[in-house]
Amino acid sequence: MTEARALPPCCCAEFGEEAVVDMSKASGDLARRFEAVAGMQILARADPKTRWWITLRRCRSCETPWLVGQDEVVHDFWALKRLGAPAAAAILNERWWPADFDSYGRFLLRAFDACIVARFGNSDELAYYAHRLEDLSPDMHRSDKARALGVDLAEYLRLLTLPPS
Ligand SMILES: [Zn+2]
Repeated sequence: MTEARALPPCCCAEFGEEAVVDMSKASGDLARRFEAVAGMQILARADPKTRWWITLRRCRSCETPWLVGQDEVVHDFWALKRLGAPAAAAILNERWWPADFDSYGRFLLRAFDACIVARFGNSDELAYYAHRLEDLSPDMHRSDKARALGVDLAEYLRLLTLPPS
């Protein structure tokens, strides 16, 4: 006799079309949302060199496919975008990824806009990300990049003077 394993909670209805989930809320009121995303099945990963934060996932309960951006270094969050079956199939069959989270800087801003504030503590790590943002999001204004890292513009400009480590 095998024991049925409990499915992770399904929050797909409350996530709507897009959602931002705080990865640091593994307990308390928001734990269900954390468990729902953490429990999703990863079906595919975007290019590990240029889009390492992006995956295609599926809810194990209702099988809804989601485009998921994950950041555990700067802000600790997931950003989700609901996908239809054709979009999920295009990723799996054609490696055609929706561009929603392609801009790393704008992706990080989603956390800021959802009031999930950065937790990092040292300038070296931040400087690394400031330099990454310069490379990855050249089209973004620096004041927006500063917000994406949860610092003000003056601090962002100071970080750029530090070595990229
Ligand atoms: Zn679901």
